[in-house]
Amino acid sequence: MKNVPYRIYLSESETSKQWYNILADMKELPDPYLHPATFKPVEPEVMKQIFCEELCAQEMNTTDRYIDIPQELQEFYKIFRPSPLIRAYNLEKALGTPAKIYYKFEGNNTSGSHKLNSAAAQVYYAKKQGITSLTTETGAGQWGTALAMACSHFGIDLTVYMVKVSYEQKPYRKAVIQTFGAKIIPSPSDTTDVGREILKEHPGTGGSLGCAISEAVETAMKTPNCRYVLGSVLNQVLLHQSVIGLEAKAALEKIDEYPDIIIGCTGGGSNFGGLISPFMMDTLTGRRSGTEFIAVEPASCPTLTRGRYAYDYCDTGHVTPLARMYTLGSDFIPSANHAGGLRYHGMSPVVSKLYHDGYIKAVASEQTKVFEAAVQFAKHETILPAPESAHAVRVAIDKAIECRETGEAKTILFGLSGTGYFDLNAYTSYLDGTMTDYIPTDEDLEKGFASLPKV
Ligand SMILES: *Cc1c(COP(=O)(O)O)cnc(C)c1O
Repeated sequence: MKNVPYRIYLSESETSKQWYNILADMKELPDPYLHPATFKPVEPEVMKQIFCEELCAQEMNTTDRYIDIPQELQEFYKIFRPSPLIRAYNLEKALGTPAKIYYKFEGNNTSGSHKLNSAAAQVYYAKKQGITSLTTETGAGQWGTALAMACSHFGIDLTVYMVKVSYEQKPYRKAVIQTFGAKIIPSPSDTTDVGREILKEHPGTGGSLGCAISEAVETAMKTPNCRYVLGSVLNQVLLHQSVIGLEAKAALEKIDEYPDIIIGCTGGGSNFGGLISPFMMDTLTGRRSGTEFIAVEPASCPTLTRGRYAYDYCDTGHVTPLARMYTLGSDFIPSANHAGGLRYHGMSPVVSKLYHDGYIKAVASEQTKVFEAAVQFAKHETILPAPESAHAVRVAIDKAIECRETGEAKTILFGLSGTGYFDLNAYTSYLDGTMTDYIPTDEDLEKGFASLPKV
């Protein structure tokens, strides 16, 4: 007889009607965004040309601890939330660990990841403001899919600039995005000045995330009643993703649990930030101490563990505001053998600040070790993790093994941010033994740091 069920359910009425804004509790705030041309703090007026008004307000809100989730959005969330919190009994047994492992699974919607939480919120506010179309970029495709779903629900046109190599390698992602009615353009393209410029200089290039961002921002600025939206990094995105942590906390409270260790993977920091923030609140306000927060990143894109805490551009085209964050430099591109996602050069300013101030630990994992954990997890828990999420799985397993050695029955919570059904090429290369690891040398990293602006 188990006293805790495999799945800890929340009813609709127990889910959060508000997001948690960690900025209200941080002892010191992240530094302000700077204008990319003047290096002066960005005026709200400039932000409003790029982003929707309500989202600008959320971005700058450092005082309201809780922000209401609008009723219409709560209704949409009900389609796929609350997401399951699952006790990994089978994995625990296989590892022979006394640790209790829980994971919060965000892959239960068609986009396959947590990204729909923020996509829906951003599209909702755009619609409310009377915006008629949105632009964005997508790399691997999860964000583009989530946004296409949200735009189709709320009735807004969407143009997705998809990094050309992904566009060609992932035809199924393209099909899903188009199914939801979005227009998808391989980037670089001849639809923008930035794109035409890049194509002239580098004909035949496969594109990059930074370049796709530049194209999407340019189109948003030039199209009447159009705005740009971003799927990670920003404070507003972490705010929307706090539903992950709020639900996890409420479900754990029902079974009288509180995690000793909380683990998440970090690309731009949004699923990790969203998962940890309601627990970090207890640490920041002195209600709890000793909780261990661990961010996991790829060894081939080691933003937190080997990056600099500096002002940097959020995109390669240098059209977006500068953020002070951990960064490898906007010119940094992970080595071509990297298959595990989480390839962004920067990190959320909030996560960066918490890490800089010592509230968070960071671990870098090599991709073959990450996929080894993914396969082990899939076999015991029946969910095929996204390669990104598998970074968190890796460290959760490592921590559980540590507990086996010390005999400590710690409670581990990790974020399983999504599923890996569109990443089967990466699984194939792991399974047939052709996947390799690459850890950038200090010299490789210096090249990226050389692109840091002198602020
Ligand atoms: C996009 C994505 C990530 C990385 O983004 P964060 O903003 O760091 O959360 C992680 N996992 C999945 C499944 C994703 O789609």
